[in-house]
Amino acid sequence: MMKSSHPLSIGLLTLIILMTSTPRMQAQQNLASKPRFAIILHGGAGGEPDKWTEQYKQARRESLGQALDVGVKLLEGGGSSLAAVEAVVRVLEDDPMFNAGRGCVLNEQGEHELDASIMDGRNLACGAVAGVKRAKNPITAARRVMTDTRHVLLSGVGADKFAESIGLELVSADYFITEEQRSAWKSWQAREADRKKGAQIAQPRYLGTVGCVAIDSQGNIAAGTSTGGLMGKRWGRVGDSPVIGAGTYAANDTCGVSCTGTGEEFIRHNVAADLSARLRYANQSLSAAADTIIQKILPDDCGGLIAIDKQYNIAAQFNTAALARALADSSGRREIRLARE
Ligand code: ASP
Repeated sequence: MMKSSHPLSIGLLTLIILMTSTPRMQAQQNLASKPRFAIILHGGAGGEPDKWTEQYKQARRESLGQALDVGVKLLEGGGSSLAAVEAVVRVLEDDPMFNAGRGCVLNEQGEHELDASIMDGRNLACGAVAGVKRAKNPITAARRVMTDTRHVLLSGVGADKFAESIGLELVSADYFITEEQRSAWKSWQAREADRKKGAQIAQPRYLGTVGCVAIDSQGNIAAGTSTGGLMGKRWGRVGDSPVIGAGTYAANDTCGVSCTGTGEEFIRHNVAADLSARLRYANQSLSAAADTIIQKILPDDCGGLIAIDKQYNIAAQFNTAALARALADSSGRREIRLARE
């Protein structure tokens, strides 16, 4: 028969273990018990950082931080990268400070047309919507295209009808179009009229497309992007954000990526899929591949991307003056940046 140990001796043993384990060992034990994850989100490329007020920068950082916290909480609790990406993008869509969902930019006719996509790196499942006008959260409509249909991309009235048919929340133009974007559109229209008369005026770049990439404790990678597109875009124009392989891509054996910038260039250069292909076929590192595409292949002042690879490395690259972004991982790293600071 085993002799039962005296309660005092167990207490003494625990005390000795506690006293002899170093802070480093304790930190390692804590890390081992927490789900491993990495997450990065963006709030668009472009803008003129020199003109931003402290108040504007603060508000933007706060919004990015709040969205990041939603994703981190989910991943820390063992949630999936797909759930985190959708939740983060929804927060940013609901925030009028970004060009996605509420607060989106307007097309040449002063109307909103929203694009979004999402991809699951486990099995290359993906879904997207283009030119939607009623689905409150286009990223959720995109996710449901992925899970509830045999298609990848639904557009226009059909996409909104699909959202309605599965009971997603629908809203009207008043919800999406803010006073700020209405007046930005009026300025755009005035400048456009002057340009047509021959004036040499450059249209400012309107930032604020949103995206998120995450990897969870299972090593599953997901990516999503949502946008109102480009200010003054032609009616019916679709950018890169809902195009899988251009604005969004995710594959567990390589990486996840979400892009932002002049969509036509990202489609032309197949940016998101190219990043993944460089890892797969050329064995490039995530940062080297992102750097080559953004700094050497794309035209200058065109945009940027955020990405995470299967080793939980995080990358952000841009060739514009700014890329609003926030990132975190399970080692405790947390960063929020707006430009090249
Ligand atoms: N890429 C988006 C589009 O072309 C816009 C952006 O990212 O700012 O629709």
